Amino acid sequence: MAKYIIVCGGVISGTGKGVASASIAFLLKLRGHKVNYIKFEPYLSSDAGVLSPIEHGECFLCDDGKETDLDLGTVERIAGINMSSQNICTSGTLYKELIVGQERGENLGKTLQIMPHVTDRIQERLLNLGKTSEIVVCEIGGTVGDMESAVFYEAVRQFKQKNQNDVMVVMVAPILWVPTIKEFKTKPLQNAVKQLLQYGINPEMLLCRVDREIPAKLFDKVSDMTGVERSAVFEAKDVDSVYQVPIEFYNRHIDDYCVDMLRLKRSSCRIHKYKELLEKPINDEVTIGICGKYANHDEAYLSLKEALIHSAIFHGVKLNIKWIKAQTMDAKNVKEELKEIDGLIVPGGFDKSGVDGKIQCIRYARENKIPFLGICLGLQCAVIEFAKNVCAIKDANSQEFEKDTKNPVVHYLAGQKDIAVKSASMRLGSYSCELVKGTLCHNLYSASPSRWDNKNTISERHRHRLEVNPEYLEIFTKNGLNLSGFNPETKLVEIMEISQNKHPFFVGTQAHPEFKSSLSDAAPLFKGFVAASVDRRKKITKKK
Ligand code: GLN
Repeated sequence: MAKYIIVCGGVISGTGKGVASASIAFLLKLRGHKVNYIKFEPYLSSDAGVLSPIEHGECFLCDDGKETDLDLGTVERIAGINMSSQNICTSGTLYKELIVGQERGENLGKTLQIMPHVTDRIQERLLNLGKTSEIVVCEIGGTVGDMESAVFYEAVRQFKQKNQNDVMVVMVAPILWVPTIKEFKTKPLQNAVKQLLQYGINPEMLLCRVDREIPAKLFDKVSDMTGVERSAVFEAKDVDSVYQVPIEFYNRHIDDYCVDMLRLKRSSCRIHKYKELLEKPINDEVTIGICGKYANHDEAYLSLKEALIHSAIFHGVKLNIKWIKAQTMDAKNVKEELKEIDGLIVPGGFDKSGVDGKIQCIRYARENKIPFLGICLGLQCAVIEFAKNVCAIKDANSQEFEKDTKNPVVHYLAGQKDIAVKSASMRLGSYSCELVKGTLCHNLYSASPSRWDNKNTISERHRHRLEVNPEYLEIFTKNGLNLSGFNPETKLVEIMEISQNKHPFFVGTQAHPEFKSSLSDAAPLFKGFVAASVDRRKKITKKK
């Protein structure tokens, strides 16, 4: 039987359950255990791909094409565990599976009910993951007491009752600082534990989130009032970077406590290499402009931001991000808006909104030799810009923005044009890409051993309906926008670049390399892009 660590949250949402779960999973992995993770989400939607990034944060994409919550990205990045559809389960998925299953003949004759059918399904998911791992970290979305999450708590109660020695529950909740009276308040946390007790679950561990120094005696009080052992009440203070959290947890022996609680063998935690990564000296700084539709919403581009952080740490530079709202950009303000950036990213996206602004920014970056990385829609916009302003195809466009455009330099993938089902119907997941020898991208990937198979092919994740129209490749190449990678089976255009003797870094990729980036293995294209941006900054500062 595997061991289970159930992580839930109290008082408010956004207390960092995801980062706490990922950090615990990572530390246990570093102790040599085979760890997996699952998130139970109380919401009804079954597919994060159709949810708005403004409301829900970015849609994180897995290797198997599952479009999911950003928390799974956090787990991949921090714990280094590859996520897939088995690692997320929403209420909607459970209901859908049960209802569709019955329509097909499962549970015939039975009246489907939340108990036992949904609660059993939840426990089955836990058991299934446990078949291939020693420890499963399970995060329950939302906050204890939410009406919609009750079924998950009931399932956990039953699961814990059946497997008492193998399940521990961790609650992450804040101790609040009330500025008007300058006092800490533990009462909301105490009440959250009480709510958990009402479900018949007593937590074995509390991770108390605090945003400032807090007197130790308050943890004694929390222990007294909640019945959680004093040695299991841990301070979990805000830190500058999520990557610092595993180190904080390690220093506080949170992993030791989990191991003892679950009666696992004590082994040493090989965290030193990781620590060294974070302690790399910072010698310089760089400012990257990100021009997207949701420029005011950090979480809408979370993986992108993290991929930049990984590369900045790799190069020992401090990263500044300038968010540029695409809808506000035009030919007049572009120079002023981009004057302080050392590199420009146009990220992935959907629909026409802000596209003209993105194209203006790309043009400025191309003409002024500002390093540019276009991701998915970013590549497609770069192709439109290049067609219009370099190849003189004035009416070039994407079929996504102008259905009957005369010059569809970006067009629908075969079978995608008239697709009616919006959920999980794009070209999704990891696909391989053959790199063209001698290109900048070939060099960048081949310098990253973990990504390189010596056969010139790499693999990245995709999420798109349109592609660069291969009919225009000849004219692009003639004018200096070259093919640097293509799909070996379908020949689909994967990466394009302007050669380095004409532009220091101008690359567009149909894939989303940000999804596979991590602290210990930063994405090669991001590494190259950040290096080029730092170079540009150095040259400009020298001139001044
Ligand atoms: N909307 C474009 C497409 O579907 C780009 C998608 C993306 O950026 N992920 O092809």
